[in-house]
Amino acid sequence: MQENQIVTSMNFSLPKWIQEELACWPTHLPSTNEQMRLAIALSRKNVEHKTGGPFGAIVIDESTGLVLSVGVNRVEHTNCSLLHAEAVALMLAQQRINSFDLGGPGMPRRKLVTSAQPCVQCFGNIHWSGIWAMAIGATKGDVETLTGFDEGPLHPNWREELRAQGLSLEEEVMRREASAVLRYYRESGGFIYQGRRSKPLG
Ligand SMILES: [Zn+2]
Repeated sequence: MQENQIVTSMNFSLPKWIQEELACWPTHLPSTNEQMRLAIALSRKNVEHKTGGPFGAIVIDESTGLVLSVGVNRVEHTNCSLLHAEAVALMLAQQRINSFDLGGPGMPRRKLVTSAQPCVQCFGNIHWSGIWAMAIGATKGDVETLTGFDEGPLHPNWREELRAQGLSLEEEVMRREASAVLRYYRESGGFIYQGRRSKPLG
């Protein structure tokens, strides 16, 4: 850290293994289960390669199944508490289409597929991103009991809040497979990276 010097920019990148992994997958994934399979595979690879937390997410064009972007958790490696998998996928999708709005007029409907239930921070990001749909793998309870990550003070009616925006929601998609990665993270001695509450697991 440079003292007395304001930082004026930052950049981040996905881990190097991402390109190699994506080369093994079709560019289009029509079904929600196939989409979730990729999100979970990314979460698992992120743990295997020790490149971040056990979370993966992708943004899909709903009508074609095109994988618009992918994301994995990058908090520790970038020193940025904002870079959860969902946020990374949303940001990179917005960069790809050159718009802050993933659901603007005339655009295809876009869906966020995430290996685990988004935390309170990610719900804010989802709210402003313009996506039309979301599929979730592991539940909040799975995340909190299997890893110890805290999802934060979610609105008790978060489902209704999302639906009120016209966002369609699928939950517990391949939950068992998604939860297995959380368990793997704990068993492999993962680290809980949370402001003022960081600690090693196990
Ligand atoms: Zn989050």
